[in-house]
Amino acid sequence: MRVLILGGTTEASALARLLADDARFETTLSLAGRTSAPRAQPIATRVGGFGGIDGQVRYLRDHGIDAVIDATHPYAAQISAHAVAASAETGIALASLVRRPWQRQDGDRWQEVASTPDAAAALGAAPRRVFLSLGRQDLHLFATAPQHHYIARLIEMPQQVGLPPDLVLVRQRGPFDLEAERRLLVDERIEVIVSKNSGGDATYPKIAAARALVLPVVMIARPDKPVGHVVTSAEDAVNWLVHARSPSRRGV
Ligand code: NAP
Repeated sequence: MRVLILGGTTEASALARLLADDARFETTLSLAGRTSAPRAQPIATRVGGFGGIDGQVRYLRDHGIDAVIDATHPYAAQISAHAVAASAETGIALASLVRRPWQRQDGDRWQEVASTPDAAAALGAAPRRVFLSLGRQDLHLFATAPQHHYIARLIEMPQQVGLPPDLVLVRQRGPFDLEAERRLLVDERIEVIVSKNSGGDATYPKIAAARALVLPVVMIARPDKPVGHVVTSAEDAVNWLVHARSPSRRGV
């Protein structure tokens, strides 16, 4: 069975490892190409956009893909919308590996906002020391609130155009541990954190550290992301694959 994983996440890599040694599947991992040095993968990898829905449809047909697993990031809504549309057009089975969001716990001081521009506005008029843990694509949106001192942690350096003026960049790749996160927040005298509700373990320690330090977190809500058949772990995805048969290839 030819499988395409839409990846870029810890779960996608875990699924790639599970499928790598499974002779029932011939699997390719697709990455957006957001990082110039992605982690090595144990299966074939392709990098870069498909060229919209039409491009994805063409790729699925040209490569004889039997099933797609969308294991992209919870905030990567466009690729998921394209995957749902391409599945509808081709009849190729689609499952979505959905990471559960973090839940607010006692002691959390979250302010939930609908979007990244809303997060910038929620920081208020008075200058604050802000930790941005969002990825580089959204940093420019904080240029609308130039009065704050920002510290942004990134895997890859952003383009230097249109960024807020008082911004320090820290280049690091997760996972991060609680003590290191606590130390970062204390050493940098952070007053507020801006985060996406990514879910999962790899980036949760900053949320736990904020709770321990009684720091507020401006939490950007997840986008509505179209999904196929929902699975919640790499193991579930393999079980689904075992039973999935694309209508277009049934009986072939
Ligand atoms: P997006 O807005 O859903 O995707 C934009 C375009 O990138 C897609 O239309 C597609 O191009 C291409 N693309 C995305 N994922 C792909 C994949 N796995 N394989 C091939 N092409 C892919 O997603 P985004 O712009 O990458 O990210 C949006 C937000 O998601 C970011 O702000 C970040 O917070 C979060 N995020 C994304 C990733 C990631 O690996 N993408 C990882 C961590 C966090 P075509 O239309 O040309 O096919």
